Amino acid sequence: MRFAGGLIEHECPRCHKEVALAFGTICSECSASIEKRAARAGRLIAGLSTIVMAAYVLVQMPSDNTGRIIGAASVAVWYMLSYLVVKRVARLIYS
Ligand SMILES: [Zn+2]
Repeated sequence: MRFAGGLIEHECPRCHKEVALAFGTICSECSASIEKRAARAGRLIAGLSTIVMAAYVLVQMPSDNTGRIIGAASVAVWYMLSYLVVKRVARLIYS
């Protein structure tokens, strides 16, 4: 009684493969494919925008150590946040 109380589809709506799925879900292969493509897009776009951000921070870098540390930390935070945002948006686009 795995899907007790819910509707069961017998075909993945994305790849049309015959599998038993809960209503409104896609198969595990499609989920993995979407996740992989979204992660790749996230890495690419976050990497490119981080290069631009790092160049700007390098040009505008203050000469004291505190400014350098904060600049480097902001570049790292920028990469992480932009990766997460792009991955989430790409997941929506690819699904
Ligand atoms: Zn599928």
